[in-house]
Amino acid sequence: MDGLMMDYQLTLPTILRRAEQYFGGKEVVTRLPDKSFHRYTYADMTRRAKQLAAALQKLGLERGDRVGTLCWNHYQHLEAYFGIPCAGFVLHTLNLRLHPNDIGYIALNAGDRALIVDASLMPLVEQFLPRTKVEHVFVVEESYEELLASADEGEWRDPGLEENEAAAMCYTSGTTGLPKGVVYTHRSTMLHTLGVAAANPLGLGLSEQDVILPVVPMFHANAWGYPYVAAMQGAKQVFPGPHLDAESLLDDFVQERVTWTAGVPTIWLGILQLLDAEPKRWDLSAMKGMLVGGSAAPRSMIAGFQERHGLRVCHGWGMTETSPVASMASLPGELAQADRDTQYDYIAMQGVPLPLVELRARGADGNEIPHDGETMAELEVRGPWVAGAYYDTPGTSGRWTEDGWFRTGDIVSFDPQGHIQIKDRSKDVIKSGGEWISSVDLENALMAHPAVAEAAVIAVPDEKWQERPLAVVVVKQGATATPEQLREFIAPHFAKWWLPDHVVFVSEIPKTAVGKFKKTALREQFSAQPVA
Ligand code: ADP
Repeated sequence: MDGLMMDYQLTLPTILRRAEQYFGGKEVVTRLPDKSFHRYTYADMTRRAKQLAAALQKLGLERGDRVGTLCWNHYQHLEAYFGIPCAGFVLHTLNLRLHPNDIGYIALNAGDRALIVDASLMPLVEQFLPRTKVEHVFVVEESYEELLASADEGEWRDPGLEENEAAAMCYTSGTTGLPKGVVYTHRSTMLHTLGVAAANPLGLGLSEQDVILPVVPMFHANAWGYPYVAAMQGAKQVFPGPHLDAESLLDDFVQERVTWTAGVPTIWLGILQLLDAEPKRWDLSAMKGMLVGGSAAPRSMIAGFQERHGLRVCHGWGMTETSPVASMASLPGELAQADRDTQYDYIAMQGVPLPLVELRARGADGNEIPHDGETMAELEVRGPWVAGAYYDTPGTSGRWTEDGWFRTGDIVSFDPQGHIQIKDRSKDVIKSGGEWISSVDLENALMAHPAVAEAAVIAVPDEKWQERPLAVVVVKQGATATPEQLREFIAPHFAKWWLPDHVVFVSEIPKTAVGKFKKTALREQFSAQPVA
């Protein structure tokens, strides 16, 4: 027997209409390149998003055509997040930190026909544009305004989208291998939005009363869904524009009374250092939580924010292929009164999957690994906002198992309650004498040392053991440490053979285009050259 409910398609115009109808007066604030603030409301945003949608439709693009953006986080980018998919086109966020050759490859591979770009990024566009099929370029504040003026909001009609039509596209940033396109549907985006809103990490769910500032760029995996979550919930949004230094961000948090923010650990490590240096300068009493993800959030950082500044860190895990948010750390209710160390152990893990997402890890025998917190294997994931294939990238079907789960390439353990802990990426895990050493565990332990600002651990070739860990460390300004001191500091937490044989000090760890430690570059640098 079939059910008798409406066949209601899950498409983004629903969120657009909701934001307009119920939250029209709520603010969207942007820090402009000259550092002044631009303010308008959701009513303005939805009006302009509709104008954008109608204007793009008039250009003669066909349904499903890709429209790229090459922009920082700002209100025009938010308009594109709605205007492009609500017109029946596909929002393709390009990563402005990539090499122009890579951006050109990605824009061509995706078949972008139009591009919305920040004026400051035009010199970058000129370097790759001739290699693409882009026919129209709209410059923010300039020709983008003319485009909007060419249509009236009343001209926009909901194109009657089907939920499985493409809404957006994003390429994996290529920390490993060639960038690969992930194509989100309206349905996957809507369910991801609901899933993130439902996650309620550490009891800190988001509502109309929140003020959200996504530090995560809008070109990095949909800014983790926050533009849509905020619009659906009616939360005020604050965009930092190009001003991503710790001081500007802290100023924004204070001035706009930000309650929720999100970004990769390297951003928060910088912010924590600044807060430690000047603990009284910023009043962050409005801030209820910060989502940290994209790389492992060091336990010492989570504890540092909480103990020294009263700020709660929520730890999330995901990938471009999972829209991206797939799991969030959680504290089981029975541990609400537990000592802080026990609590941090849980919060530092990557937690349990969001509703509708399923996780598993299987050993070499094909059976699920024991949930003992120790056994490690590759994490597999499935759910309604997990990619089922890459766009036009032959030879990648092996990333999916025969029974349809996505192989993440992440190595995890499960604790008895099913909380995952990401131990490594399969490409980064150190294989020493046939055993695995988790580079993430070593990094977290090193970053707990008071003199250490950042630490990355990589595998270096070793004749006897095949690979051995090498730690690359940045010390905090004015601090000192020796390799022996660091080894001694972490020794109590590890078997002896896990300890890095060598510790090298550098002034900076190279970062990827989305701000993660670039271990490929470190491996290149240190594998060839013997270290003292
Ligand atoms: P890239 O592969 O270019 O880094 P993604 O942003 O899609 O692009 O990265 C996804 C990967 O980031 C995951 O597979 C995982 O290795 C890592 N990651 C994401 N969140 C976490 C986290 N909380 N802890 C550890 N690793 C994480």
